[in-house]
Amino acid sequence: MSLTARMLVIIFLAMPLLEPAAQEPKLFPLPDERYKVDMLLVVAHPDDEGAATAYLARALDEHKHVGVVISTRGSSGANKAGAEQAAALGDIREIEARNALAMLGITNVWFLDGKDTASQNVLQSLANWGHGVALEQLVRLIRLTRPEVILTFLPGTFIGEDHGDHQACGVLATEAFDLAGDPAAFPEQVAGPANRRELFLENLRPWQPKKIYYFPDADREDIFRGKGPSYSAKEISKATKQPYWRMSLDSFRAHQTQAKEFLDSVAQMDESQIEKMAASDGWTDDMRFVLGKSLVGGSLTGDIFDGIRTAGDCAARPHHDGDSSMGAEPDGEGAGSFASCLAAGRMGASKRHGEIYCSDEASGGRADRSHVACRSRNRNEEAGAAGNQRSCGFEWAIDRRNQTSRRA
Ligand SMILES: [Zn+2]
Repeated sequence: MSLTARMLVIIFLAMPLLEPAAQEPKLFPLPDERYKVDMLLVVAHPDDEGAATAYLARALDEHKHVGVVISTRGSSGANKAGAEQAAALGDIREIEARNALAMLGITNVWFLDGKDTASQNVLQSLANWGHGVALEQLVRLIRLTRPEVILTFLPGTFIGEDHGDHQACGVLATEAFDLAGDPAAFPEQVAGPANRRELFLENLRPWQPKKIYYFPDADREDIFRGKGPSYSAKEISKATKQPYWRMSLDSFRAHQTQAKEFLDSVAQMDESQIEKMAASDGWTDDMRFVLGKSLVGGSLTGDIFDGIRTAGDCAARPHHDGDSSMGAEPDGEGAGSFASCLAAGRMGASKRHGEIYCSDEASGGRADRSHVACRSRNRNEEAGAAGNQRSCGFEWAIDRRNQTSRRA
């Protein structure tokens, strides 16, 4: 064998030893199921989740998996439990929200890096958060948690408090609903790793949620009546044998910085006094939602999960290919199953594009006094009282029936 030939043989044999660093690592074939949720709640501040906890308790009763995204740490809110303010208060409020949700059994809770912005102007909130950065973070969490339904604040100005941060998280959630399934949106998130230990590309998968629902941050709920489903907060939880409103109240007890005086007073009440307070303060009011978009059809006021297969359903019936998730799957395969669902008539093409259901009536006198509206009113009271320097924070102790409406 000539010298040249021997050299070639040596180089050829040595190649596998030189190659590993440049080899394509194997992709993990499936996403992490521990983080798959049926519903993702997107709110702006620690304690905002309280506007939905009576419903979340019901969803958990129905074996739904729930995750929560909170877009700020509430660092510009009030502190009624201690001296800490600003960023230090935000660190406390993050724990309060985690504890409040953990009491219901929800531990998949994420915070975006938005700054608590005391304003009624959604554009100021989006500017202060860094709109693009916050949207990228939320799209990432939707791709990670793969929710069937997103529940969030109405992304607009209505009669009520209209906290800019509340509107902003509704805007982000609506934008993310439309973007998370598009592999061209934040493509680095859905790119597979280029190296063995990938530092930048995330290997997530595009994901299209099926429905988005809103709850109003509004003083009068009559303009939203009939725009979506409503649920009684008085029904008894199968899991705890307590009414859902009571589970919501118990969860709220974590928010000492926002309502210490009220929570101290509740701690002194007997059960009949608590029930009386709850009825007068709106805790027992029905939970009402507004259907924003549905990609699976269904009626305006039908159940939130109508037409959607969830974790609870999966346990109850066997898997049928093509009849489960309609979200996009890795490598674009989901686009195929998504299309096959369309072709099979399970979802009309017009539904794919969704229909926007939103009230265009935003004027007139107050009528109904909802749970959320009462909270909004009190948040507005506080914002006004603090010269709009404070954020929301629920003023549970105040008799909501005597509060005035929106401040200038
Ligand atoms: Zn808030």
